[in-house]
Amino acid sequence: MMGTTGQQLTLALSKGRIFEETLPLLQAAGITVSEDPETSRKLILGTNDPLLRVIIVRASDVPTYVQHGAADFGVAGKDVLHEHGGEGLYQPIDLNIAKCRMAVAAPAGFDYRNAVRQGARLRVATKYWQTAREHFAAKGVHVDLIKLYGSMELAPLVGLSDAIVDLVSSGSTLRANNLVEVEHIMDISSRLVINQAALKLKRERLQPIIDAFERASRPA
Ligand code: ATP
Ligand code: MG
Repeated sequence: MMGTTGQQLTLALSKGRIFEETLPLLQAAGITVSEDPETSRKLILGTNDPLLRVIIVRASDVPTYVQHGAADFGVAGKDVLHEHGGEGLYQPIDLNIAKCRMAVAAPAGFDYRNAVRQGARLRVATKYWQTAREHFAAKGVHVDLIKLYGSMELAPLVGLSDAIVDLVSSGSTLRANNLVEVEHIMDISSRLVINQAALKLKRERLQPIIDAFERASRPA
């Protein structure tokens, strides 16, 4: 007899900080991953639970896998979720991991505030298109957005843009490139996201993991 306990679960994670910082939460739920994605080339990893597997995807692809049910649940940054829109995703908890902030940064010599005050049209390079569009629209600042896929810090240094919208944690990358944070947009952390259909159909399997993650990620 196959009960609901016999259901296969798939968790989507990205390599690097999300994987590393989710490990202790998995441990709190009694789950250990059988291989290290940094050294293994496998994209599907087993766990100590024969009915739970982990898939390794790009950070920005996690919501897509979960939305379409290719993964039942996943861990994604608020930055990524904001860009995706969150369609088809249930977001029960803030895991308080991979914390940083979304900010506007500009070259140290650029008078950003004055440019904004004078109503100048700003060229802003970013991979966070939605976030940037909403931020500047809410402030009534006219911008030409330039879509990049990484290394945004370079854009103002070579005249591609006046400013950038990017994630900042320590600020050392900005400093190393003579940029300063001129505006805070939002605080960022990673969230647990769950496929809405999976939440209904696999609730018995998912709930204990959600509960363990919730307890383990609560701020001290
Ligand atoms: P990719 O490298 O595939 O383009 P990525 O750069 O978004 O994706 P990561 O660097 O692993 O991938 O970031 C994953 C998530 O971690 C981000 O979506 C964000 O929420 C968070 N994050 C990014 N940079 C930092 C940072 N410097 N400190 C803390 N958290 C961060
Ligand atoms: Mg990165």
